[in-house]
Amino acid sequence: MPSTLPANYPPDLTASESERLVEVVKDWAAAHGLSVRPPATVVSAETDPVGILSTAVPVTIFPSPFPQICYDQGKVAQKAYNELYAAISQDEEFLAQIVKNIGDSDDFITELWKVHLKVKEEGYAQHLSLGLFRSDYMVHQTTPEADPQIKQVEFNTIASSFGGLSYQTSALHKYLAINEYALLEQPISQGQLTLPTNLSARGLAAGIKQAFIAYGHSATPHPKCVIFLVQDGERNVYDQRHLEYEVQAPPSTIPVFRLPFSQIKQQTHLAEGDGRQLLFSPPQLPKHTFEVAVVYMRSGYGPGDYPDASAWEARYHIERSAAIKCPSVLTQVAGTKKVQQVLATPPSDPMSEPSILRRFIGSDDGRNTRRIHHADDTIAALQRTFTNIYPLDNSTAGQKARAIALDEDRCQSYVLKPQREGGGNNIYRSAIPGFLKSMPEAHWGAYILMELITPPPVHNTILRLGKLEQGGVICELGIYGTCLWDQREKQGHGIVMNEQSGYLLRTKGDKSEEGGVAAGFGCMDSCALVGGGHAKNSGERHV
Ligand code: ADP
Ligand code: MG
Repeated sequence: MPSTLPANYPPDLTASESERLVEVVKDWAAAHGLSVRPPATVVSAETDPVGILSTAVPVTIFPSPFPQICYDQGKVAQKAYNELYAAISQDEEFLAQIVKNIGDSDDFITELWKVHLKVKEEGYAQHLSLGLFRSDYMVHQTTPEADPQIKQVEFNTIASSFGGLSYQTSALHKYLAINEYALLEQPISQGQLTLPTNLSARGLAAGIKQAFIAYGHSATPHPKCVIFLVQDGERNVYDQRHLEYEVQAPPSTIPVFRLPFSQIKQQTHLAEGDGRQLLFSPPQLPKHTFEVAVVYMRSGYGPGDYPDASAWEARYHIERSAAIKCPSVLTQVAGTKKVQQVLATPPSDPMSEPSILRRFIGSDDGRNTRRIHHADDTIAALQRTFTNIYPLDNSTAGQKARAIALDEDRCQSYVLKPQREGGGNNIYRSAIPGFLKSMPEAHWGAYILMELITPPPVHNTILRLGKLEQGGVICELGIYGTCLWDQREKQGHGIVMNEQSGYLLRTKGDKSEEGGVAAGFGCMDSCALVGGGHAKNSGERHV
């Protein structure tokens, strides 16, 4: 295995090489469904009324150099993260406190919590819970000589996307490494790149399949199915389709349907009796009804999906049903940035107070020493991935953070985050003081302040909408995790399945703050692992 890349990696391309690679990559992407629906700014609804057109996902021409040590660190931490978030989701008291701390100024979180309370009153009909998680990281390096480490950007518990496209991106780069790079004027010979195997779609699908089995036999006369709960007008549809096809891949014969969130009440109802089985009647197949075993949500993570009270009714309807939810409301709340902050903020007196992680990981009786040691290691591994995150509430830590956030100089190294998912919600650097001053102090507690991670930039070329963009880029690694557990247990007991399930590398130009591929800022990438941890060519070549 090579541990260093060629000094000129990734090589500069001649004009004709660029032309050829655009041709090769766009056709490979179309042939393999490395695609999205085109943005309306590129193809208008009038031009494509049936939505028949697709376009290649923005993608790097070369896999970006990424330190092996960091990639391994993320992979190793994932099972511990799965266990941690299962345990948080099981800890209603902790989550109730989180919601209280976020406060009434955040209607979205307040409404979500109300859904949980209402179902709890009646009693949950399903105790199994499925998590298809993704933990996102950036590389942090204190000095050029120091070993790089990964620091967590965020942990996703709902609609963790791109598992369907990332394994395809890994496959594209492998194809190019075998067939194209050796032909360049500055050739990269076969075997010079270390490209890890990435089975993200298969791994995530395995979680859905396991939940489908764990649901048991249908209790009604109807066959079981899986529902993908989606947004109207979704552009990232092929990412989801790849996952559907993996769930349906032989030898399994699992019916999978896409249900728009806005159609929940029209197309589903609960069975008669106490079991609250969720029954789904596909509108285009009027003779068929299915009992829904698993609801996999690729929607419902932001206020946009809940335009009125009936949308909240629909979420409640799903939550109280017997279907296994991915995620449940509790797991969704566990994924808030406030939880991430509470986990990352050290106790005010670390000498006398234990880490909050102790509450979720480790021995419940304190007698099993082997388990305690294992827990200590696990907690240490998780803590190594944390960066500084502060509350903005009235606490002592909150007061300190407020001083940083309002200071024109110190705020330059921070990002302010609300309790939202899906990109485009954060406030960066110099925009922070003005933003905070524009709202009542009573609302500040709904935000967290996070130190910006500044990875060593690398160099790459992105193919976006048929054009090549060359320059400095920043990479974000996502590690997928799949976990199925029983909500009635505590501290991560009751786990039926816990797997690390492949990775995502997302890359953006080093001038852009956000990294969402669908939002048009970032692109898909894969890792060319470099040993020793020092990403070659860092920082030197900007175009
Ligand atoms: P969302 O839930 O909207 O995806 P994230 O917390 O993942 O919110 O932030 C969106 C993007 O902003 C990230 O993908 C990353 O590119 C950038 N970002 C967020 N937090 C940090 C940070 N601490 N350091 C550097 N970049 C960050
Ligand atoms: Mg994110």
